[in-house]
Amino acid sequence: MWNKQKTFNISDNNFEQCVKCTICTAYCPVVPVNPDYPGPKQAGPDGERLRLKDPDFFDEEALKLCLNCKRCEVACPAEVKIGDIIQAARIKYASKPPKLRDMIMANTDIVGTFASTFAPIVNTAVGLKPVQRIMDTVLQIDHHRQFPSYSGLRFETWYKKYAAKEQEKFEKRVSYFHGCYVNYNFPQLGQDLVKLMNAAGYGVDLLEKEKCCGVALISNGLIKQATKQARHNVAALKKTIVDKGNPVIATSSTCIFTIRDEYPHLLGVENSAVREQTELATRFLFRLVDSGKLKLVFKENYEARIAYHTPCHMEKLGWSLYSTSLLRMIPGLELILLDSQCCGIAGTYGFKKENYLTAQGVGEPLFNQIEQGDFDCIATDCETCKWQIEMSTSATVQNPISILADALDVEATRTLWQKEKAHQTS
Ligand code: SF4
Ligand code: SF4
Repeated sequence: MWNKQKTFNISDNNFEQCVKCTICTAYCPVVPVNPDYPGPKQAGPDGERLRLKDPDFFDEEALKLCLNCKRCEVACPAEVKIGDIIQAARIKYASKPPKLRDMIMANTDIVGTFASTFAPIVNTAVGLKPVQRIMDTVLQIDHHRQFPSYSGLRFETWYKKYAAKEQEKFEKRVSYFHGCYVNYNFPQLGQDLVKLMNAAGYGVDLLEKEKCCGVALISNGLIKQATKQARHNVAALKKTIVDKGNPVIATSSTCIFTIRDEYPHLLGVENSAVREQTELATRFLFRLVDSGKLKLVFKENYEARIAYHTPCHMEKLGWSLYSTSLLRMIPGLELILLDSQCCGIAGTYGFKKENYLTAQGVGEPLFNQIEQGDFDCIATDCETCKWQIEMSTSATVQNPISILADALDVEATRTLWQKEKAHQTS
């Protein structure tokens, strides 16, 4: 077996609890589009029973088709951790080391550092058809795929240059886990978060040294490296949460889900000291508004018809309500909830040539709904859902934080909490 790491105890997943109802199979988005996939029941609890008797029952190619979307877990009435069982089996029994392609796509910090340094050249090169054909043939990255463009100015650099000093003026602080996408590709989202939190009366700190959450390392089988990064991040989170007293917020549902749930469930990295204080920014803000501690004031002339797409990991967390409730507070914003369906990309999964048709088949009902809806934009909390929707439809996609920041009346919101603070101290 390639991965020697076995810190994870597979019995924790309670596969014995399966009552064989097959509901999970009805909810799995891969089953209807790829006949080679045995489905969650067979790949999960049924397969686990067999694999524990004889590891030869491990079918690497079949289990690789799982998107790790966890929609089966959400549907399961017996709370079997089906997705975890499948991923843990892939970790435990994998016989082959990851391909060069998988190592490149999983190492987001290394690739991001290089690509953002040479952003204009890299962005032009990966957009050229001959380059896409070469990547398709040599690396097996499907030629239909477009990589998100890299930013020449990383978020961390922007923050140090333009925002860090200002944050010292705030008494109340949060720390921001920005993730690779914000740092290397789309710093605007991080800037929107800082704008929103500052208007709400919170200074934004960064972690001492943040590393990629490791979701792509896990899905591509680089478990040792994922575990090392998870340990590093948990230590950094502890420093900010326990030592500084800052709660931690993020703008990526995938980063937050990985840190909270995949670290202990798949990597065996203990995170109980930081888990509850690490959450999505929309959940943090919603709780402030809901408890009456914060009032957000929005521009009077804002108008938009926006549809919300629920990422799979938001479905699993049960947190889309926080993002949609905040968006609904914007007067002039008409919010439509799209049917909760997987978009098919699952991080790096949909970029792989062998998965392209499955990914697009999974996402097709969602793409059709979007194309038929006449929306100004799509809102979603996951960056890879954004890439997939923008690659597969004519829509543009924004994180709810950016929509809120755009619609916010910053001065009016700031004046309100400043008045409240003055009232409390007088
Ligand atoms: S995690 Fe998603 S793709 Fe994998 S078995 Fe469950 S529902 Fe199917
Ligand atoms: S939904 Fe749960 S209980 Fe039903 S077959 Fe699937 S794993 Fe078993």
